[in-house]
Amino acid sequence: MPELPEVETIRRGLEQLLLGLEFAAVEVCYQGSLKRPSAEELRQKLPGRRVTSLKRRGKYLLLHLHDGTILVIHLRMTGQLVFSKDAVSVHKHLHLIFSFTDGSCLAFSDIRKFGTIWWLAKEDLAELKSLSSLGPEPLSADFHFPYLDREVEKRTISVKALLLNQQFLAGLGNIYADEILHRACILPERSSRSLTRNERLALFSAIRSLLEEAIIRRGTTFSDYRDASGAAGSFQEQLQVYGRRNQPCRRCGRTIERKVVAGRGTHFCPGCQC
Ligand SMILES: [Zn+2]
Repeated sequence: MPELPEVETIRRGLEQLLLGLEFAAVEVCYQGSLKRPSAEELRQKLPGRRVTSLKRRGKYLLLHLHDGTILVIHLRMTGQLVFSKDAVSVHKHLHLIFSFTDGSCLAFSDIRKFGTIWWLAKEDLAELKSLSSLGPEPLSADFHFPYLDREVEKRTISVKALLLNQQFLAGLGNIYADEILHRACILPERSSRSLTRNERLALFSAIRSLLEEAIIRRGTTFSDYRDASGAAGSFQEQLQVYGRRNQPCRRCGRTIERKVVAGRGTHFCPGCQC
């Protein structure tokens, strides 16, 4: 599943390609991906609107259009957005095709069909609860140590569950949560409130540094994730625990283990995380 670094990489790629383009047509091949409005309304009303900016909030992509409306896209598990200078031909997993007046197009494909698209007026954005209830952006000034300290103190859930909670912090998923906890030397099952001040500081700094590094490396590609031009990321080469079960820890040499924490397969090192 694309997490913050992957969605940010897609955003940066698309920003170069889409700014100023005007929609000419939309083809909706799979209605299930489009939550709002109807395919008919999107087809009729989207043409003529221009893309003025591309933003990201957590794992959501937001294409702001010149009339104040916003195209909101969530890729979920296997959604992909691929830009092409020319028209693309429809295939099985292609769900929506946005064509622009210069002949280029943006194709949304999704093997698992969980990805979702909304087209909304700015004032209706608050109705999208999963978006409007997101916690701070980890790389923004809204996320600071006093905030983390306060939230960690409030909760007795596992620190892994805390990191996955989008209301606490926007954009983290299973891969980066495991990597952050390894970097901060904290076991994923630890109760949030049990973290010492030094561990909280280590956690804060690991969240920031890991996400920054992952964005520089254009995200992590296991199978489906591709950036806007169809290229894979390279952060998978840097992973310390995720996907490394039974392999030696690169920091202490102990064997990486995997168990279910917070309902998710969780990788950790029993040697250097405590
Ligand atoms: Zn270790």
